[in-house]
Amino acid sequence: MDSQQILDLYTWKPGTCFQHPDAGVVETTVVQELHTRLGPVEGIRACTSCILAMEARRRGLAAEAGVAYEPGHAGAPL
Ligand SMILES: [Zn+2]
Repeated sequence: MDSQQILDLYTWKPGTCFQHPDAGVVETTVVQELHTRLGPVEGIRACTSCILAMEARRRGLAAEAGVAYEPGHAGAPL
C-alpha cells in the first residue's frame, strides 16, 4: 500500500495539525476525539505527513507484536 492509498483511507478537511500548529491551516484529518467534561467533542487533527509517520510507526509495532497491520486508524495504538 503506498502513501496515497493510506491517505485515501482518511477524510481530509482544512485544519490545524496538532504537531505542526505553526504551519497554519493545512489538510488534516481527525486522529483522536477528545470528550471533554463540558460535553463538546474536540477532535485532534493531524496533517498528511503526520498521518504517514503514525502509520509507519503502527506498521512497525504491529510487525513486532506479530499482529496484522491495518491502515486507516492512526489514532489507535496498533
Ligand atoms: Zn503534522
